[in-house]
Amino acid sequence: MRALRVVAGVLALSVAGCGLVPAPSDDGAQDRRPQKSPDVVTRSLDDVERYWTGEYPKISGGKKFQAVTGGFHPYIEKSAPLECGGQSAGYQPNAFYCPDGDYIAWDAQNLIPQLQEDYGPLLVGVVMAHEYGHAIQARLGNTGQQTVVLEQQADCFAGAWLADVQAGHSAAFKKPAAAQLDDTVAGILMLRDQPGTPAVAEGAHGNAFDRIRAFQEGVQQGPAKCAGYEAGNLQVTEVPFSTEQEAASGGELPYEDAVNLLAQDAQAYWTRTFPEITDEQWQRVDVIDAGQAPDCDDPDAAVEDQAYYCPSPDFIAFDTAKLGPQLYDRIGDFAVGMVFGDLFARAVQDRRGESTTGKTGQLTVDCLAGSWTNDLLTGEAGDERIRLSPGDLDEAVAALLAFGDAGNGGPSAFDRISAYRKGVLEGTGVCV
Ligand SMILES: [Zn+2]
Repeated sequence: MRALRVVAGVLALSVAGCGLVPAPSDDGAQDRRPQKSPDVVTRSLDDVERYWTGEYPKISGGKKFQAVTGGFHPYIEKSAPLECGGQSAGYQPNAFYCPDGDYIAWDAQNLIPQLQEDYGPLLVGVVMAHEYGHAIQARLGNTGQQTVVLEQQADCFAGAWLADVQAGHSAAFKKPAAAQLDDTVAGILMLRDQPGTPAVAEGAHGNAFDRIRAFQEGVQQGPAKCAGYEAGNLQVTEVPFSTEQEAASGGELPYEDAVNLLAQDAQAYWTRTFPEITDEQWQRVDVIDAGQAPDCDDPDAAVEDQAYYCPSPDFIAFDTAKLGPQLYDRIGDFAVGMVFGDLFARAVQDRRGESTTGKTGQLTVDCLAGSWTNDLLTGEAGDERIRLSPGDLDEAVAALLAFGDAGNGGPSAFDRISAYRKGVLEGTGVCV
């Protein structure tokens, strides 16, 4: 496939246990520069208030926006945050809205400097817009819902604010470049729930797939869409592990099984599905180890030597010795699935006489890859079939972030994730 580059920062990340608490970093807290954060945070919060001053009346039936009355409170390890609801949890690398005191607090020593350093100031703005989203919920009288609904609504509100930044209205941030936006989405991935968290769990925020959906809905559709979130209309893909065995393995197949079974399942899926969209039979496409692949007659196809679809002679090449293990070890088995999804979708597009290049071509490929994922999620589960396990959708998202090429003017991960999700949630028909 094209543009298969591995972004170290994304792949190297370790995954947070819960909510806004990232995994502890190796280096000591003294290396952080706390003086850097209050600036960005306060500027962000002021800007979020500017945003809601204009937008809140539109989603509240004309009621005027009221800023938080309890203020903004940075804290550090030595000064634990204020009490919230009569309790102080002590120091946590966290950011939160306290409904009791109507204030927003954040760890200015570790969390915020770390997020800013790893993902850029815009993610700090998004985190603060998320926390402010909880204050908006309180003002709307909308807090009696499941945690995962409230968290995704806050993500959606944060996305709505970001759209306003993109529109050039912000005093805190310039219009972000596509690559900055992708870094911000990578930050949301890092803040996901641990795979296997049930969506109904206390404190569940959502897997990255769902949280990014909520965030993107806010960006694309605005705050009224977010305000309408409730359990009945919110599609939640976060599921617990189904067996103890699955929980023990984290839902990860052994590497070689993953490669073989994923390729086999993709082949079977397109054998069933291709005739439905073209009236033609699917011709089996061989998957060959990249090291043993024949020359490809199409000079454009084999620009990457690790994974590509070659139309003539017709085959898929996949580097099982290097690229495969790298994706598997750093992200997980379904990162391999994402690559196969892409390669088979390229074969589909080529056989349909459709382009796989440029932004439109890539996004259709991503959507078709998503349609196979949809089948893994919802299709009949035969004995021979693999199934998605908790965490797999997030692995697909992580892979798309790693392949994102926005910095070079290619399709952004933001757009690719959006196209992939369309296929995952709605199936093949929505892609072609
Ligand atoms: Zn939250």
